[in-house]
Amino acid sequence: MLGGMTDTMKQFEVTRSGPLKEVMALGEAPVPQPGPGEVRLKVGAVGINFADVLTVTGEYLTRTRYPYAPGMEFAGTIDALGEGVQGFKVGQLVACLAGKGGLAQYAVSPAAALVPVPETFSAAQAAAFPVSFFTAYHALKTLGRGEAGEWVLVQAAAGALGTSSIQLAKVLGMNVVALASTEEKLKIARDLGADVTILQDDPDRIQKVKDATGGQGAALILEVVGGTRFEESLQMAANRGRIIVIGNASREDATIRPVELMKRNLTMTGLWLTSLMQDAEATRAAAQGLTPLIASGKVVPQVGPTYALADSAQAFQDILDRKTTGKVIIEPQR
Ligand code: NDP
Repeated sequence: MLGGMTDTMKQFEVTRSGPLKEVMALGEAPVPQPGPGEVRLKVGAVGINFADVLTVTGEYLTRTRYPYAPGMEFAGTIDALGEGVQGFKVGQLVACLAGKGGLAQYAVSPAAALVPVPETFSAAQAAAFPVSFFTAYHALKTLGRGEAGEWVLVQAAAGALGTSSIQLAKVLGMNVVALASTEEKLKIARDLGADVTILQDDPDRIQKVKDATGGQGAALILEVVGGTRFEESLQMAANRGRIIVIGNASREDATIRPVELMKRNLTMTGLWLTSLMQDAEATRAAAQGLTPLIASGKVVPQVGPTYALADSAQAFQDILDRKTTGKVIIEPQR
């Protein structure tokens, strides 16, 4: 027993890549102990990102090392502090970008990976915040250099990143054209402030983006679908448009002819939050930009469907099957 609690806990572990429901196994593991500079969280909510799904299927940007404990982004109350940790206290609700290990009842993380959240937040809101909003900020500002009055195209607009990007773009004074796969998803985008919404499979989608943007095309494109849709993004961009390559949700290869960039003086920039987080200055600037917006409620993490820990594989499958909106949340204590 550890101070009144049992010394084992439930945790997901993946030992090989493969179909989600075959390789995601719920097991028991020792409750981890925080080392120097680390904290232990009683995990209240895990935010599931598309990247979590790809790490399990073995299709992520970097190779997954097995055994792998999924759950890159989570939130909960601090229940133990390792040696030398300052600035945090037991009982405090924090979000955490530990990169893995969140799909468990308890998780240990370096204190440096903790993200403060408003006291008014629920654990689910806290877990829905860091990845999507920091990525949206970097896409719109750090790399995208978006300006008020410009048009930004947001794909997968009702998803976790999409709903964050729409809200942030509107607060920054930008105009938003949103793409998503269903009318229900387009309504979510409109309710968050998207100015124009277009079905992802509308046969006239390229022309409709042009029409929405006064014939110019979008100045900034947040490209998350990839595959054959990538080429379309180039056609939807304005002269001197900036295309931020953020994801490849289609999991298809894309072919780019560099001359297509020449035709309208386009710029293409990759974005990976994991490597951008290593840039302390960029991270500080993003936190400074986001903190007042989150604290004042001008932008709100959109909590999507919520699942019990035992239903994690179903939650991952639902993201892959495009059934979810907002940030999918898993609650390990139930
Ligand atoms: P979402 O909640 O947006 O879910 C993924 C969405 O992708 C789906 O809902 C679906 O929206 C859309 N999609 C389009 N085509 C497909 C397809 N063929 N199969 C499945 N989904 C498809 O997830 P996230 O917010 O976690 O991520 C969105 C994208 O942003 C992903 O590509 C992800 O990898 C990327 N990302 C990248 C980061 C980085 O650091 N580079 C950080 C965060 C996210 P619809 O049905 O409307 O088309």
